[in-house]
Amino acid sequence: MGKQRRRWELQELEPEWAGMDEDGTRYNVAFSFDCPVHGTHRLTCRLDRPYDGFAPIQGPGVLVHLVDNGSFDTLTVESINGDDAINFGLCGKLRIIEGRVELVRVLAA
Ligand SMILES: [Zn+2]
Repeated sequence: MGKQRRRWELQELEPEWAGMDEDGTRYNVAFSFDCPVHGTHRLTCRLDRPYDGFAPIQGPGVLVHLVDNGSFDTLTVESINGDDAINFGLCGKLRIIEGRVELVRVLAA
């Protein structure tokens, strides 16, 4: 295989905002995008401070802090610890800064 790619535009990864409560009444409380490492599943980021002012949703995915609430063209998030790299477990660590996704660390397959 060729050299592994490490940078993507977030827009390439089909990002979508989501309202994930069972009754579907909340919006923009999380977003998901295609995992750039595996390409076989979605990665979900749950906002620590959702737009609707209520508590973060529960569920799968990583809790993140939204730094720039613009579009996916400019989206920036950091971990809730203030680290700019988000730990997605077996998918590795990613930075999502100004609408660009960078693979910081790949975990062993
Ligand atoms: Zn993955």
